[in-house]
Amino acid sequence: MGALRRRFRKSNMLNKKTVDDLKNLRGRRVLVRCDFNVPLKDGVITDDTRITAALPTIEKLIGEGAKVILCSHLGKVKEGPNEKESLAPVAKALTEKLGKPVNFVADYNVTGEAATAAVAAMADGDVVLLQNTRFRGSEETKNGEAFSRELADLADDYVCDAFGSAHRAHASVVGVTKFITEKGGNNAVGYLMQKEIEYLGNAVEDPVRPFVAILGGAKVSSKISVINNLLDKVDTLIIGGGMAYTFFKAQGKEIGTSLVEDDFLEYAREMIEKAKEKGVNFLLPVDTVVAKEFNNDAPSRVVEGSMEKDEMGLDIGPKTRVLFAEAVKDARTVVWNGPMGVFEFPNFAAGTIAVAEALANTEATTIIGGGDSAAAVNSLGFGDKMSHISTGGGASLEFLEGKELPGVAAADEKE
Ligand code: AMP
Repeated sequence: MGALRRRFRKSNMLNKKTVDDLKNLRGRRVLVRCDFNVPLKDGVITDDTRITAALPTIEKLIGEGAKVILCSHLGKVKEGPNEKESLAPVAKALTEKLGKPVNFVADYNVTGEAATAAVAAMADGDVVLLQNTRFRGSEETKNGEAFSRELADLADDYVCDAFGSAHRAHASVVGVTKFITEKGGNNAVGYLMQKEIEYLGNAVEDPVRPFVAILGGAKVSSKISVINNLLDKVDTLIIGGGMAYTFFKAQGKEIGTSLVEDDFLEYAREMIEKAKEKGVNFLLPVDTVVAKEFNNDAPSRVVEGSMEKDEMGLDIGPKTRVLFAEAVKDARTVVWNGPMGVFEFPNFAAGTIAVAEALANTEATTIIGGGDSAAAVNSLGFGDKMSHISTGGGASLEFLEGKELPGVAAADEKE
């Protein structure tokens, strides 16, 4: 790992200002966009990974004597501002983790009088948390100028550390940077962003080979560009999960009532063809665990080849588990996004567990895309065995598609 990290650093892919480029921070007001979009149940945070991941940047800024103003969205806020989607539980968790009080501005306006007064009262090294940025509705999600300016008015410099939101051109991610620049401030990326970009960016652009990508999950359509982009980069591409059946059908196999996207059969054929042209080792399941109902307790059997008309594939079979595990054994870089089956049903989780185990046992740098695969790896207890688990589902997918994230693009270039 050590050698690899050094290699990453040297390649210096990220030519953006980082927190370390911000100097003389004592007394400067720094607005930090975090990703505190944590899962909540009855007001209790059920997974605080994202809060923990934000701490290095916050602690660094506190240590430098900056006035640290934090902001984030939480949930989708479909029905307007409400207490259930308030950031109050995050303020409490942060206070505990930082070991110092975090002054939470509960005002649904996010910016405005209450926020301005709270910032004016800050001493060096203090921390203020603003309310959920999505409480400003489309002003936030449509990158509104007024809200962007109000956010910038609260601060001197801006740091984006919200990897999970970096694929969205929202006011608190992108719009704010224009007004920070106008007043002569800096727009930098935080340590979490740096780490995500280092791992995902280097895996895709400059991987240590053999480079294996494993894609699963429900739909081909949501990962079209990922498959297409990765076929230009990988040595081996493995497809499992519900999306494999569209490939099966494209090859003329009977897939019964399995998940399928008929609009993507031609695309699936093209991808199989492209893999051949590029000399990519393209692996599909060789056996499947099928059942007649979408139900954990449905009786199941393993089939090789075609299923019966009333059967659906719910997991990869035992031979496939071995085949996929073999394929990652000698890999040096592995990226995984999407479960191999309906892992939420314990009786159909074996394929996903087998892949997680294989990744835990390889010497390769292992990178887990966010979302379901991160949840699967963590809930199965393999979290600490992976080199990197991304905090951003959508953002990590866009990275694997080869797109530049708006939140990264908006940061200043290094001088
Ligand atoms: P995605 O968000 O596209 O990564 O999809 C994740 C979801 O795909 C999980 O909820 C899995 O239960 C589901 N999934 C994976 N394999 C299958 C399958 N064979 N049939 C139905 N759903 C599946």
